[in-house]
Amino acid sequence: MQIGIPAETLAGETRVAATPETVKKFAAMGCEVLVQSGAGLASSCTNAAYEAAGAKVVATAAEALNTDIILKVAAPSADETALIKQGATVLAAFAPHQNDNLDAYVARGLTCVAMELIPRITRAQSSDILSSQANLAGYKAVLLGANEYAGLFPMMMTAAGTIKPARIVVLGVGVAGLQAIATGKRLGAVVEASDLRPAAKEQVESLGGRWLDVPMSDEEKAKALGTGGYAWQPSPEYIRDQAAVVDKAVSNANIVITTAQIPGRKAPVLVKAETVAKMKPGSVIIDMAVSSGGNVEGSKLDEIVITENGARIVGIGNIPALVATEASALYSRNLLNFLAPMHNKETSEIVLNREDDMVRPTLIVDAGTLIYKKPN
Ligand code: NAD
Repeated sequence: MQIGIPAETLAGETRVAATPETVKKFAAMGCEVLVQSGAGLASSCTNAAYEAAGAKVVATAAEALNTDIILKVAAPSADETALIKQGATVLAAFAPHQNDNLDAYVARGLTCVAMELIPRITRAQSSDILSSQANLAGYKAVLLGANEYAGLFPMMMTAAGTIKPARIVVLGVGVAGLQAIATGKRLGAVVEASDLRPAAKEQVESLGGRWLDVPMSDEEKAKALGTGGYAWQPSPEYIRDQAAVVDKAVSNANIVITTAQIPGRKAPVLVKAETVAKMKPGSVIIDMAVSSGGNVEGSKLDEIVITENGARIVGIGNIPALVATEASALYSRNLLNFLAPMHNKETSEIVLNREDDMVRPTLIVDAGTLIYKKPN
């Protein structure tokens, strides 16, 4: 069985879907791994390291894509799809809700495993690409904020006077938000945070952050508990109260990091333009949801917008690609952890187990049949 690792072609994508470490494990399972020359370079993985791990380095994408299982970071483009072996299985972050190539995957008879659709069950954690990448992105977002900010994070008492600590506001306290809080605290900032899941309060406080409370009715609390850890649909009253809390906190902040996402849908707008207009000159917003519509009015994908009042809105769409070495290492292990239990030692084949409730939800196209339905 051949596994192909093509170089990513999406602009700005520096990650790779297999490292020498995971290639070695696939090779030990009896798979022949074909890595496109240079595919790992931006993630610090050289052709020589892949070869030493047992891979065959091939010159072209066509060779890496003409294999039985293809491991990718971004969903295959139309051009890539035309080169994929008929009937192959492809693992990637397919973003099916905004992917225009689903028909092309069907026409090619592919099986497409959308890794971001893995359910949030304990058994699936080691294969969860959203968590592994969000964690690193949360860390890097704070460093991006620190870089754009013309001030410092910690309090400093100097002979020339005292420097006040920076105030960071984190909106959305999932995996990325928690890592952003922890990183901001480690760098000495004062951190405040909010999420519409009440369970996040304890997590924020355990990291030394201050919880920004938005009043919630008993009915809303019950709703919030019943969503299994995912965001619930807030009422107009909650959205109004939240906007007031956000307005006050953000107007006083030096750095704002927004991470609120709703899987498969457009991100909610949490910071209105009128709030951005009240921010101090030199303050910085990192809108981590910019590629799914943005949490901040006025943020632009892959741009730094400087507002009239001198705030900077940073809209980097692919933050994990800025920490490609570790992001690729974790992403590659996620894919290995997903596939390894389906390896048959006798035949050396990897066959997807469609009965497995961790595997089934990821199949957006199965042997050329479209399974995925866009949410209403
Ligand atoms: P996410 O990226 O989907 O969203 C980030 C955060 O934004 C979430 O905490 C969400 O509640 C919040 N949010 C969404 N809309 C909002 C709004 N309108 N206002 C304020 N906040 C809003 O979330 P995530 O990081 O993927 O994690 C979501 C939850 O799932 C967390 O509780 C996390 O611990 C849990 N989780 C569980 C597993 C597992 O058990 N396998 C794996 C990963 C995450």
